[in-house]
Amino acid sequence: METLVCWRCKEAKDKSEFYKSSQRKRGFSYRCKPCDNALSKEWRQKNPKLSSELALKWKRENRDAARTLNARSKIKRRESYNKLQRARAKAIRQATPSWLTDEQLAEIAKTYEAARILKEVTGMKYEVDHMHAISGKDYCGLNVPWNLQIVTAAANAAKGRHLPEFHSHLAWGG
Ligand SMILES: [Zn+2]
Repeated sequence: METLVCWRCKEAKDKSEFYKSSQRKRGFSYRCKPCDNALSKEWRQKNPKLSSELALKWKRENRDAARTLNARSKIKRRESYNKLQRARAKAIRQATPSWLTDEQLAEIAKTYEAARILKEVTGMKYEVDHMHAISGKDYCGLNVPWNLQIVTAAANAAKGRHLPEFHSHLAWGG
């Protein structure tokens, strides 16, 4: 047990009996906790106005700091979400073959629309899934009507790393 001596009551007490203080060389307050508490109580009683002003100031500053932090992390979250969306849109664009007919492109659009409506009606998170992932590791799934299916977000997440069998009409590369 490491002890420190309190400068007020002159008692040697365990370190845990002292408040940590980065301003003090020894890393702990010069006074034990009971002495520190007694002194600050005394000070509060002698300076009621200043003490309540300080408490208010502390509260306000902390609230402002919390607000700033909150706003900052919100912006960061939005930025990374937007970045992800942009990357996803680009990947979909790149995975869309130029030889698709207008009807096929319309079919893709309809699938996305159907997923959106399903989500709205059921309140469940429906997504359009590329059966062969368009960001596959060794191949690139195509953004073509026959590679699309509507699934719940949960099912999509559960699919994980399992890769379906490679079919040339569903993906290119390999
Ligand atoms: Zn003490």
